[in-house]
Amino acid sequence: EHLANQIAAGEVVERPASVLKELIENAVDAGSTRIDVSAEEGGLNLLRVADDGSGIQPDDVLLAFQRHATSKISTGKDLFQISTLGFRGEALPSIAAVAKVKCVSATDDSGLGRLLEIEGGSLLANRETNAPKGTEMVVKDLFYNTPARLKYMKTIQTELGHLSDVVYRQALARPDIAFTFSHNGNMLLRTPGNGDLRQVVAAIYGTSSAKAMIEVKEENPDYSVRGLTALPVETRANRNAVTLLVNGRYVRSQAIVQPLMQAYHTLLPLHRYPLAVLDLRMHPTLVDVNVHPAKLEVRFSKENELRAFVENAVKQALGAEAYIPSG
Ligand code: ADP
Ligand code: MG
Repeated sequence: EHLANQIAAGEVVERPASVLKELIENAVDAGSTRIDVSAEEGGLNLLRVADDGSGIQPDDVLLAFQRHATSKISTGKDLFQISTLGFRGEALPSIAAVAKVKCVSATDDSGLGRLLEIEGGSLLANRETNAPKGTEMVVKDLFYNTPARLKYMKTIQTELGHLSDVVYRQALARPDIAFTFSHNGNMLLRTPGNGDLRQVVAAIYGTSSAKAMIEVKEENPDYSVRGLTALPVETRANRNAVTLLVNGRYVRSQAIVQPLMQAYHTLLPLHRYPLAVLDLRMHPTLVDVNVHPAKLEVRFSKENELRAFVENAVKQALGAEAYIPSG
């Protein structure tokens, strides 16, 4: 069991940002309206995620740190209809195998909850404590017991960049959740949580970018897309200019980026990306999200239709002529 956790940790916990991604996804899955994230030293010293979500029942807190203890799949059929972000039940045990973890959680406003402490997979504490409704996860000294892994970490700045990417994506995915993100005590992001995507874009990319964004909004019987897009306003490298969400999940997909760029091709210098946040919805059977362990890669069952749909939607938004399928 301990070894299995350490092996799984190698897959799930590549760097501080992979830990943060799992913790934020759990907070989102718990129905939170507020998620406060803080980190120290690129997340290697400390990562903290506090939410006001459902909390974990006192008897289930220890269970949550055991392998495949997901509360999110109850039948085989659920595997094909995944609406929550996490569904493997591997994250918490993997993280607890390679760090010092504290979890404080309460399911109601009674003021009482449960505190659990695990270090390198060993249980140190599991007792009642004072706690507000929701969950606080603190992950300290990541990779303290796996020095080989620690050696692969890049600079604090690089790790911070990856942490920021994770927070930005989730903030863009969920404008209805109020996010804060601070690093070494400096507040780096604060989103209002009022559902207005443009205000999240303003908080991340700046107000001039937010003002330049035009609305994308299309649907057909198979797909719907909503979002914002604009030509990049600055000349700095914009590798994270495109944020793609499929059924609420952040993904990377050339099948979506290519038609997006195609729609822009007469307006955009070669090899530049437009700014875009596209929130695509489709029936769960049209998309396979389980292609990659990190759940970033997806496969679409009607990819050509999807490509045409995206290109057309963006062209409509840009006021260009509608896409006419060739052949
Ligand atoms: P998964 O998300 O794949 O189910 P995890 O290891 O990430 O697996 O989490 C295990 C379980 O712990 C979850 O299924 C959930 O029941 C519980 N859990 C973890 N984090 C939270 C949280 N922030 N709020 C409520 N429940 C949580
Ligand atoms: Mg999870």
